[in-house]
Amino acid sequence: MSLILKKIKSNIFLSLVILTYIILFIFLPDKGIQSLNNSLYYIKEMLIIMPVILLLTSLIEAWVPRKTIQNSLGEGSGIKGILFSFLFGSFSAGPIYAAFPICKMLIKKGASVANIVIILSAWAVIKIPMLANEAKFLGPQFMLVRWFLTSLSIATMAIITSKIVKKVEIPMDDIITRDDAVLNVDKNFCVGCGLCVSVSPENFVMKGKKANTAKIILISEENDKIKTAIEKCPAKAIKYM
Ligand code: SF4
Repeated sequence: MSLILKKIKSNIFLSLVILTYIILFIFLPDKGIQSLNNSLYYIKEMLIIMPVILLLTSLIEAWVPRKTIQNSLGEGSGIKGILFSFLFGSFSAGPIYAAFPICKMLIKKGASVANIVIILSAWAVIKIPMLANEAKFLGPQFMLVRWFLTSLSIATMAIITSKIVKKVEIPMDDIITRDDAVLNVDKNFCVGCGLCVSVSPENFVMKGKKANTAKIILISEENDKIKTAIEKCPAKAIKYM
């Protein structure tokens, strides 16, 4: 019994879906059958699309260097990263759920939370083929105004999400390998004492009242000064992620 409860707890969303189906089949069997057919349709669609997406994700993961993704979509990528994220999301193909494994891989490789929000949102609502259809049916003016306002909302969402959701809070343990890890300063913990910058000025800089890494540093590039900074940081804010 406790094993069943444990399974339900660890798969709470799936358990809720199953419970909903059971209730539907008891009280509204017609709706239950209709819902089951819809679900089976989407599962079939996912089974066709997901292998291709997972293959694409693995290819990007294997062939695109971490530094390239960090430079193009990482925390310091600025306007370039924002534009690239909009283009990536807008020119993508396939349903939105296909974007999730790709985005998780991009986060693992160093993309920022803000840019991931832009990619996902652009993928969902401003894809280029969709815009062309929208202009055809509702007119170019409608499409352009909606595109502009949607893009503005996406940028706002990206800023807000990146303030609320920190990278460390995104579950990554299942895919991060030790070799991939990049040195990071967790701004939530950094108390701005500047010790890391004094110990290793070539690797750390102060940005405002918080420390930051001066460049992208892979775990394979660790040296004695970095080790000392990690050990001596009073807030234990420096870690590989
Ligand atoms: S040593 Fe730690 S707490 Fe101090 S500035 Fe560096 S990261 Fe922040």
